[in-house]
Amino acid sequence: MTTHSHDHPNPYHESERDEATNKAMTERVDKMEALLLEKGLVSKEGIEKLADIYENDLGPMNGAKVVARAWVDADFKQRLLADATAAIAELGFGGLQGEHMVAKENTADIHNVVVCTLCSCYPWPVLGLPPSWYKSFAYRSKIVIEPREVLAEFGTTLSDDVEVRVWDSSAEIRYLVIPEQPEGTENLSEGELAEIIERDSMIGVTKVNAP
Ligand code: FE
Repeated sequence: MTTHSHDHPNPYHESERDEATNKAMTERVDKMEALLLEKGLVSKEGIEKLADIYENDLGPMNGAKVVARAWVDADFKQRLLADATAAIAELGFGGLQGEHMVAKENTADIHNVVVCTLCSCYPWPVLGLPPSWYKSFAYRSKIVIEPREVLAEFGTTLSDDVEVRVWDSSAEIRYLVIPEQPEGTENLSEGELAEIIERDSMIGVTKVNAP
């Protein structure tokens, strides 16, 4: 998975409040880990394996593979739009926090973006763990009220004739955005396409750029 930094500042990234929350959370997790190890309830290897699964196997690369498949295989895309949970399972992804998936396709006329206004519901099997800005109160509140402004802050400016649809995740339904395939990538392989699909484009706050 390629990562590249964006020129524009992301106002929802690592606010002071999030940093404090993260620090408190890290301290709590460390304490809990020490306690579990002390009691012999978990092994160090077990914890490391779990962390690795969340970072790598459950990470956004799973979602990128789903989107890349949808771009190259129109039948798969139709199945994905009809029943995302089943279509995603075809690629071997599923489980906890992804039992009821819904895919929304971005087009020239419609731009979909995902939020969880209540807390931080997120499709773990295809995107891994949510970024801190997704959990921030600022994002959760403003994306609903001023979606165009928030998208612009992420560097995504949409013309007035594009309809913006904001999808509120819940414990029941988790959304995956299928971003538009950028022009000039028609000759890339499915694997090469998966490389250019970043997490934020599958939340819907950015578009995918050609490499
Ligand atoms: Fe939530």
